[in-house]
Amino acid sequence: MGEEKLIEVKGLCQEFHLTKGFLQSLRIENGKLVKADKVVHAVNSVDFEIKKGEVFSLVGESGCGKSTTARTVIRLLEPTKGQIFYKGKDISHLSGRELLPYRKSMQMIFQDPYASLNPRQRVEEIIMEPMLFHGIVKTKEDARKRCHELMERVGLRPEQAGRYPHQFSGGQRQRIGIARALAVNPEFIIADEPVSALDVSIQAQILNLLMDLKDEFGFSYLFIAHDLSVVRHISDRLGVMYLGGIVEMGDRHAVFGNPLHPYTKVLFSAVPTVGEKPLVEEIEAEGEIPSPLEFPKGCSFSDRCPYRTERCGREKPQLKEIEPGHFAACHLL
Ligand code: SF4
Repeated sequence: MGEEKLIEVKGLCQEFHLTKGFLQSLRIENGKLVKADKVVHAVNSVDFEIKKGEVFSLVGESGCGKSTTARTVIRLLEPTKGQIFYKGKDISHLSGRELLPYRKSMQMIFQDPYASLNPRQRVEEIIMEPMLFHGIVKTKEDARKRCHELMERVGLRPEQAGRYPHQFSGGQRQRIGIARALAVNPEFIIADEPVSALDVSIQAQILNLLMDLKDEFGFSYLFIAHDLSVVRHISDRLGVMYLGGIVEMGDRHAVFGNPLHPYTKVLFSAVPTVGEKPLVEEIEAEGEIPSPLEFPKGCSFSDRCPYRTERCGREKPQLKEIEPGHFAACHLL
């Protein structure tokens, strides 16, 4: 892993406006007719960086904003606020045409490979299409040759190239998705829960394949997962997300060895262990995760935190460096 920053994310926000209809959204405020949407704050001022060759993971409960963060970083969504830098170039608001060279360098592997593969295309077409579109190869014959090499590299047989996605198992379909991502020689891959839809026996094979490919091609990963044992196994660094924000971030050994934020402790204490010492003493959060439409005032975890104080309800804690390279956002630290 090098020191060169590949991705830098600064103050990233992603908001979605929920409006039932134009007339329903109108209301009178201070004697004026205004349009008042409900706003979902899916990602809330997120900062992180990913170095060349590094695996950075985002973890947290469903709905915490990790997948939306990933989709915004790769520019499937345009950020509402904040900046995304790719090798120092601000790509936050580039248009479709301006984004093309970056689309080639940044690829995504999805949770459900079946949903992300065109069922009407043969595997060969699925893998060759991005190569031809981005001009990675000059002729269809070169594309076919490279497609067969990639299929072999990810553990598929080139004779299967004429089949359709539904003729493969879940694990094989994920291998097709990986081959398609590799087809354009990316430098950065976002893997959004790439193994959570697969049988446990297949998960390890796909994870090992992803790690072998990283070592071979030297690319960086933004890895999205809720399975902490997977994250612990593959990450260099990780960020723990709660309600759209990062509450703790650091080196894998630091975060797993000494979790600091109360929410991280809650998350870790929920991991079932068989015959092993639990990651942390049991600690439970109160109630349910609040709606991103109605953010708690002050600390986002204040409604559920067993350690909250009066200050937590009125003042938002900032992410600060508690020990070298290990950050957390809590007034108690
Ligand atoms: S700031 Fe307060 S409410 Fe938030 S995690 Fe820390 S102790 Fe809990």
